[in-house]
Amino acid sequence: MHSFSKRLLGVADLLLQAQCPLCQRSTAKTFCPDCQRQIERCRFCHAEWMQQEHLPIFAWGSYSGALRRTIAVFKYENKPHLARPLGHWMADAWLKTPDRVIPFTVVPIPMHPDKQKQRGFNQAELLAEHFCEQTRLPLQAKGLERSRETTAQFQLSAGDRERNLADAFSLGAAFHKRPPTKAVLLLDDIYTTGATARSAAQTLRRHGIRVQGLIVLARAALEKDKG
Ligand SMILES: [Zn+2]
Repeated sequence: MHSFSKRLLGVADLLLQAQCPLCQRSTAKTFCPDCQRQIERCRFCHAEWMQQEHLPIFAWGSYSGALRRTIAVFKYENKPHLARPLGHWMADAWLKTPDRVIPFTVVPIPMHPDKQKQRGFNQAELLAEHFCEQTRLPLQAKGLERSRETTAQFQLSAGDRERNLADAFSLGAAFHKRPPTKAVLLLDDIYTTGATARSAAQTLRRHGIRVQGLIVLARAALEKDKG
């Protein structure tokens, strides 16, 4: 190849290099190979449904280490583009399950509009878009609405969290007009105590809508993990 065109290609390569959002080293992919490896370590080898207080949950990985940092960067350092690889990973794990052929409607856990305005995006909705892009499941982002702002959950005891979330959701405009004919698969970024997801599921079930479970990118350790 002519040396001049080689040089041009070199410049193009440099322009294509982005910064790894976790360590700021330059990378040709979303994450540098090092951080990618660290995130992969948080992935569950055999992702499957786990029964949790009337709401089965399905998680891509454990809410710890590099995955926990990735989610923090995604949400709090304004990196909405990370939803694409993360949503696709969730989809890849899902597509390996026997449930992949069941036609669910995917509903992301909504944020309160004020909070969403502050952040600029709802991380669950973005993850759901990319999850559905890959799984081809129908998405209904307006299935639920956050009817009231809740106190930051981490400041509350377990009992107060449940009370804080009672009636935090209402049925969204889309489901008011036309309730889904398929069961709903809720989607969120993380699962910690499960109070938010249970509250969302209760709201749908109160309106006669079937809820299959919740799929998340990451979940905190459960009692059964420890035993
Ligand atoms: Zn990195």
